[in-house]
Amino acid sequence: MIILNVLLVAVEYFSMNYDLQVSIEELIQLANACNMEVKEVIIQKLNERTPQYYIGKGKVNEIKNHLYDIDMVIFNEELSPMQVKNLTDALLIEVSDRSDLILRIFEQRAKSQEAKLQVKIARNQYLLPRLAGMRKDIYSQQGGSGFRGSGEKQIELDKRMIHKQIVQYQKELNQLVSRRQTQRKRRKKHDMKIVSLVGYTNSGKSSLLNYFSDKKVLEKDMLFATLETSTRAVALNHQQKILMNDTVGFIDQLPHHLIKAFRSTLEEVKEADLLLHVVDASSDNLQKHIDTTKEVLKELGIENTPVLYVYNKIDKIQETIFVPQDPYVIISVKEEYNLDILQEKIISLLFNDYEQLEIFIPYSEGKDYQYLKQNYPVDKEEFLDEYIYLSLKVSLNDYNYFKKYR
Ligand code: GDP
Ligand code: MG
Repeated sequence: MIILNVLLVAVEYFSMNYDLQVSIEELIQLANACNMEVKEVIIQKLNERTPQYYIGKGKVNEIKNHLYDIDMVIFNEELSPMQVKNLTDALLIEVSDRSDLILRIFEQRAKSQEAKLQVKIARNQYLLPRLAGMRKDIYSQQGGSGFRGSGEKQIELDKRMIHKQIVQYQKELNQLVSRRQTQRKRRKKHDMKIVSLVGYTNSGKSSLLNYFSDKKVLEKDMLFATLETSTRAVALNHQQKILMNDTVGFIDQLPHHLIKAFRSTLEEVKEADLLLHVVDASSDNLQKHIDTTKEVLKELGIENTPVLYVYNKIDKIQETIFVPQDPYVIISVKEEYNLDILQEKIISLLFNDYEQLEIFIPYSEGKDYQYLKQNYPVDKEEFLDEYIYLSLKVSLNDYNYFKKYR
């Protein structure tokens, strides 16, 4: 495996609304996930980024002296196409940014056909405005024509080709999405409640789903270990059946085209009856993580779904210094702490629109009896001479169907 040596560049603004150290730490993790070794981090204090180079011109010259043995320079924020061009010309080395790293990770990890298509679309959209700025040798590595001396005209042709590709991928993606929607509709008939796990990457979403389900999803101390949404049937408190799905983690400065591209992966989240917003309570940047996740949800048009805040990893901290958002539960998946309370809360939030049903089912209607037993926890059950007596809470739909046995 080839390991690239990289140098990171960040700007420390005089008025910062986030912790630069944490942001750089995150960038290092992103770089590591791309098989890069961070050799040096250069920080410049600025009022605001410069349009020409993102950093000051003097700093660019200084960086030139640090490039021995460096394969690539990576900037902490998304660069404009013009900045990429100017920096590449000045430094004579490949220049990349946070968005590009996130894209690279997505490219490595995408497994399903759908995720692969989404990443390809996002990559092309990222590439499109940057074609003109790329050095030819890098450009050809990344799939451009590499045809020398052709200049503007070649770039125009390549642009058109990439455009065409995006349209094609989008078409394939739409087909996949509509196929999945049909599958989901079929499932919806079963009246199962859906809970979606959302939250900043690495907060413990996959671990939580794994606690509930035997069919394991990948959990890893790594940014973006999960790229696809996976759904599991889960029995809360061993009897209340629901569907729970795990999603891709959200991250600060998630490139815009990536959010758009992943909209369809997050389609399930839209249909959820309840969101569990999982938060790493031990993180120093907890509020920022919550805000980022909320912003992404807003961008996805998900604003009206009820949310339960789940403060996880409480085993890692001595005392709780944060002010939790309501409604919330504080848990540790690792220590299995408070997970019973979590389940009770989920049940009470999910099923608050359920109706109490008391019915007498004739023995001849065994199917209906079985359906209820399989889908709901039963409060009371008695086998009488001609009927089975049941007392339980059911959805409005089922209430309307089963009230004939009252
Ligand atoms: P996701 O990105 O939100 O899906 O996060 P994961 O479920 O992959 O978990 C990220 C890391 O946090 C893994 O190394 C987990 O083992 C760890 N983790 C999850 N829950 C807890 C917890 O309650 N306490 C501690 N200490 N670690 C946890
Ligand atoms: Mg995960």
